[in-house]
Amino acid sequence: MKVLIARLNHETNTFSPVPTPLAAFGPDGPSFGAQAWRDNKGMRTAMSAFIDLAEQAGAEVVTPVSASANPSGPVDAAAYATLTQCIVDAAPGCDAILLDLHGAMVAENSMDGEGDLLVRLRAAAPGVPIGVALDLHANVTPAMVANAEVIVGFKTYPHVDMYETGAHAGRLLFDLLAGRSRPAMRWHPLPLMAHTLRSASFTGAMQRAIEAARAAEQSEESLAVSIFAGFSLSDIEAPCMSVVVVDAVSPERAQATADRIGAQIWAEREAFVYRSEPLAESVARAKRLAEGATRPVLLLDHGDNCMSGGSCDTMDVLQEALAQGLDGIGVGPLCDPEAVAALVAAGEGATVTVALGNKVSLAGIGLSKRPVPTTGVVRRICNGEYVITGPTYTGQRSSMGRTVLFDTGAARIVVTERTQEPWDLGVFECTGHDPRSERFLLLKSRMYCRPVFEPISAALVECDSPGVTSSDYSLFPFSRVRRPVFPLDPA
Ligand SMILES: [Zn+2]
Repeated sequence: MKVLIARLNHETNTFSPVPTPLAAFGPDGPSFGAQAWRDNKGMRTAMSAFIDLAEQAGAEVVTPVSASANPSGPVDAAAYATLTQCIVDAAPGCDAILLDLHGAMVAENSMDGEGDLLVRLRAAAPGVPIGVALDLHANVTPAMVANAEVIVGFKTYPHVDMYETGAHAGRLLFDLLAGRSRPAMRWHPLPLMAHTLRSASFTGAMQRAIEAARAAEQSEESLAVSIFAGFSLSDIEAPCMSVVVVDAVSPERAQATADRIGAQIWAEREAFVYRSEPLAESVARAKRLAEGATRPVLLLDHGDNCMSGGSCDTMDVLQEALAQGLDGIGVGPLCDPEAVAALVAAGEGATVTVALGNKVSLAGIGLSKRPVPTTGVVRRICNGEYVITGPTYTGQRSSMGRTVLFDTGAARIVVTERTQEPWDLGVFECTGHDPRSERFLLLKSRMYCRPVFEPISAALVECDSPGVTSSDYSLFPFSRVRRPVFPLDPA
């Protein structure tokens, strides 16, 4: 038996100005062949679980590629062609195909990155069963459902069950191959654009939907029930929620389960919508929360989150904080390679004025901003490297490029050459700065910062700012989304 196993992960924010070339798909670009196997074996990815299962089954494993990029704009056309063609080329002659995909990929030459790939695989290897593991934020499409036998999504956000999801999808496909089951898959798409901040699996309507999925898996002989929150910052037909069910008995029962849980989600649709508080009110609230606090108050700038495609360089929240007289603000990371060059040239100890942030064009969503002249002292210049000690990507070496701690008096800003999610205290500590010493910490993050920064903080305030990951959908010129859709249209 020969099994094709590949990984291709990208969550595309079609409004993001951040490019997605081939080089973005891994620390040294994508890995191919035996290197793709080595990059996953023993890790906690879905692909790793596929490899373990196939090897336990004594199968020959073919791993054409492993490619994973952080969220950003549409995948470069040549990169999409390269990454998908090597998977399609490996398909003929295989007995099974297992794919570790995100499910919300858009390329310059494909509006349905995963669906188009699956259609091509079907054509290249007719009759060969396909199993797919997807991210919880997948925008599932008809082409994806029609061209796979098994689709299983993560059940956690923040995501911690990638390996378990791969093991689940892989087990179902091997059962099918062995004739132990005849899975039937159906789905229930919802005209509902859920917000990422309302898709956490530990609270609210999303938690209840996932509990219903788990209950169905346990009591009704459903083989797999997945709740997909979708990724709404994508101008495609349906950047929406869906329920996908793999049933052991019949397509009718699969459909009934999907419809039942879909109806539960629809009844709670308002709970998946995020209503933003005006930025000035959020900052004022943070200021009040800091009175008498012995730990910093977190300001989460989720309008410019690089892990959702943000440019990581907008200045709105800092400007509002300074305008309201906040001080003792730790900020980071702010990506501005030009400013880094100027600060490094000035040298440690120098007092300089630089034009800071707001450099990446947001013209795609009709915003125009200017860099902010900022005067301060260059406290520290370093290489921006640290090892993650927090719970997400523990042990991984990270690099922000050349990094400067720039002290403006009211704020100490970590300015970097590369975008980086503040998923570890290391983003501050690598500059020699202790974030606990601040009264406020301004982090361009939605979720990843929470496990490490919440324990050192007094409170957390979500701040919506105008950027490509803003929660204010009225900023985005959606033109392809099928209407009506909630909450863009009332329902
Ligand atoms: Zn996700």
